[in-house]
Amino acid sequence: MTGPTMSEARRYQQLRAHLGYLKLNDAADALPRVLDTARTEGMSITCALERLLDVEVTATETRKRAALLRFATLPEPWTITDFDFTAQPGVDEALIRDLATLRFLDDAANVLLVGPPGVGKTMLAIALARGAVDAGFRVHFTTAADLAARCHKAALEGRWSTCMRFFAGPRLLIIDELGYLPLPADGAAALFQVINHRYLKSSTILTTNLGIADWAGAFGDATVAAAMLDRLLHRATVVGIDGPSYRLRAHQRHADTLRAAAGHRTT
Ligand code: ADP
Ligand code: MG
Repeated sequence: MTGPTMSEARRYQQLRAHLGYLKLNDAADALPRVLDTARTEGMSITCALERLLDVEVTATETRKRAALLRFATLPEPWTITDFDFTAQPGVDEALIRDLATLRFLDDAANVLLVGPPGVGKTMLAIALARGAVDAGFRVHFTTAADLAARCHKAALEGRWSTCMRFFAGPRLLIIDELGYLPLPADGAAALFQVINHRYLKSSTILTTNLGIADWAGAFGDATVAAAMLDRLLHRATVVGIDGPSYRLRAHQRHADTLRAAAGHRTT
């Protein structure tokens, strides 16, 4: 019975059932509250409907962001506001702020963060990634060694193309720590294929301690290294960070304190 003769109570039950059937569960839960407010505040029907659906939209948005953040597997919660630019004079702040606008994603451009250990490469990569997640993009974080290991395993298990599709999928892929560990030959090949699949389609942020000249050595194969660099750098921002190690700062302070305590002058 759906005609005008249906009782108010039945109509309410029917409305709840409709919301449940459409899986609008947050709106279903909010229904009594919204109807009460609508009655007491003399709300228009448009206003009450907007309130009700706003509950569902907000809840859906929150779930989507949480899923994106889980998929991103960022190892730290760092954001760009956590990065202390005064502590790292070796980084171009204006350039990082420009990258943080995420315009590079529109151009499928890459970002290479190059520098010695401890200067904040991983932190900046994570902060940019976090910004992209918060903006609703699909992002995934991995390290060069992990990517190589996952591709190797996938090849053994006959899942190579699925693995390639996975790494081609995210709008932004972060590959951390290229060059710290030597890549096995099949690892270098996997990395090359991932870069090749993403080339001109979606952005990659790569962090490395390797100077461009050292790439050939790290890949064991100068041709693969050259081909990979060619694709990576074709449309890329290279951020060289040549400053003090932030990690060593704490050690330095500790050492200074010890030295001062021992009666030596510190510089
Ligand atoms: P890298 O990847 O270059 O080796 P990380 O990004 O891992 O360096 O930074 C090393 C540590 O120092 C991290 O705990 C990071 O949070 C911290 N750190 C580095 N640079 C900064 C900075 N400019 N402001 C705040 N913390 C920093
Ligand atoms: Mg790092």
